[in-house]
Amino acid sequence: MATVSHPTSAGSAPWQTHEVFNQAPPLVGVDVFASNLPLVEAVEREGAGWASERASALGRFVGGDPQQSWGRLANENRPILRTHDRYGHRIDEVEFHPAWHQLMRMGVEHELHSLPWTSEEPFAHTARAAMYMTAMQAEAGFACPITMTFAVVPALRAQPELAAEWEPLITATTYDPRSVPAAEKGSAIAGMAMTEKQGGSDVRANTTLARPLNGGGAGAEYELTGHKWFCSAPMSDLFLVLAQTADLDPPALSCFLLPRILPDGSRNAFHIQRLKDKLGNHSNASSEIELHAAWARMVGEPGRGVPTIIEMVGHTRLDCVIGTAAGMRAGVVGATHHAAHRSAFGKKLIDQPLMRNVLADLCLESEATTALAMRLARAYDEAHSDAEEGKDSSDAQLFKRLATAVGKYWTCKRAPNHAFESLECLGGAGYVEESGMPRLYREAPLASIWEGSGNVMSLDVLRALTRSPRSLEVFIAEVEETVGADRRLDVSIAKLKEQFADPVTLETRARRVVESMALCLQGSLLVRNAPAAVADAFCASRLDGDGGLEYGTLPSGSDFEGIIARSRPQV
Ligand SMILES: Cc1cc2nc3c(=O)[nH]c(=O)nc-3n(C[C@H](O)[C@H](O)[C@H](O)COP(=O)(O)OP(=O)(O)OC[C@H]3O[C@@H](n4cnc5c(N)ncnc54)[C@H](O)[C@@H]3O)c2cc1C
Repeated sequence: MATVSHPTSAGSAPWQTHEVFNQAPPLVGVDVFASNLPLVEAVEREGAGWASERASALGRFVGGDPQQSWGRLANENRPILRTHDRYGHRIDEVEFHPAWHQLMRMGVEHELHSLPWTSEEPFAHTARAAMYMTAMQAEAGFACPITMTFAVVPALRAQPELAAEWEPLITATTYDPRSVPAAEKGSAIAGMAMTEKQGGSDVRANTTLARPLNGGGAGAEYELTGHKWFCSAPMSDLFLVLAQTADLDPPALSCFLLPRILPDGSRNAFHIQRLKDKLGNHSNASSEIELHAAWARMVGEPGRGVPTIIEMVGHTRLDCVIGTAAGMRAGVVGATHHAAHRSAFGKKLIDQPLMRNVLADLCLESEATTALAMRLARAYDEAHSDAEEGKDSSDAQLFKRLATAVGKYWTCKRAPNHAFESLECLGGAGYVEESGMPRLYREAPLASIWEGSGNVMSLDVLRALTRSPRSLEVFIAEVEETVGADRRLDVSIAKLKEQFADPVTLETRARRVVESMALCLQGSLLVRNAPAAVADAFCASRLDGDGGLEYGTLPSGSDFEGIIARSRPQV
């Protein structure tokens, strides 16, 4: 019998060629809320300190096992459209991996879809923002239906009897994905369908037609015929849909509530044509649908579809800002954790001067976005309180309106490059799916496109200023709370005011104007609330021109360690 000679690598098994070292340990068991110091401070500062323990419990849950694998599993196992059953009956069902349902259950059970509408506590929008940001560390895809379910409530209130019927279901804290009438399961998830093939930003181009079934008018029954080119989360229980109202002369857009399953248990004529093969997450389904005389009820006044649904749109835009802060946070966590454990050229990456600059710059952007998101969430709390007191156009309401558009434009625009730089901090490993960074990168452009893309948001700022010129005064008063504290910020605010001098060219310059507004707001928030290291680097690089076009270009005198230490998960 032949014998095999083994090389003499004493102590190691024959198949072992090398030792694995110089790799970051897995980041599990971290409280993803408590380890996010800029967020922890912001919750307290903006009035929702009562929610810190709740957010921390959620943070421990999200950071644990197996929750950390839910996002990966839900993305690796894409939803599948089943238009027909095996016998040929039309069913229009989308099948999801169990991990998707786990994520949805987490969102609903932690009241991410409902807290501001149900809580007796103050600043519930702010509390929810912190928890939403925390939960989104697990995955971004499920945040879409959670957001739409949250955002539908204020729009639905335009039709009190429909709100009375649906709001208890929408705000229920049980998740039930079955295709049965919502009343039977006691809960409901909501979606929205506005965008058509010929126009999304300009919804006035909608051709879907609504015909009255018995008289028509606010709250009345209609049948809807037409299509929608984007309809995310098509397994939702109800949708707000825009359609041209045939009984108006000329036809005009109205808003409709369309249940997917009718009260008698049969399926509404809501047909899913196909699922989008899209760039971002693969966990959530986005679909193209056709409505074939689908049953719906009008929400709000006939012909007032846009003002009615804009209440929903506004709240989804808030979530675009919060969600972007969440994505940046995930990038910072991945990048700083890797760099703290990986060595190259004789030093940990986090101690290499140039890498420190990159990490600090990423942390800075993330902290500025978090501060803006949380301030904006407080504006929603204050604006709602004012509305309940019967106030109209209060300072908080004007600030909320303007800062939502400003914040969505700028934070969403900053996200893709932030995700890319975070990914690059991991080198080649960051390009590999297992790191989670490709998921982050693919998702990053979405919030900028959804619910008002970049130009549309910039023009929305101008629209808000035209409708309520006082909103600019309110905005400037907010950023000027810091007057005298930082010369660079003072100069930037002065220059910002000058940008409104020439109304003729304002539309062409809108992106620059909105960018300046966002930077002044972020600068002001950081000067007021963040440690000097953070505020100083922000003002120098973002306001005073002492920075480059890419991340990692902060001035050499910045307190890099101080900036990173606030944001880095300590493991
Ligand atoms: C993943 C995903 C999910 C989505 N889910 C939904 C959903 O559930 N429900 C739904 O209704 N929609 C949904 N959408 C659609 C989305 O809201 C629209 O794509 C978006 O509003 C833009 O509309 P559009 O695609 O028709 O682009 P267009 O309106 O054609 O715009 C194209 C470009 O022109 C720019 N533009 C438009 N008007 C002007 C102007 N006056 N001046 C200068 N520039 C202008 C825009 O900023 C944009 O960059 C989803 C989109 C995506 C990507």
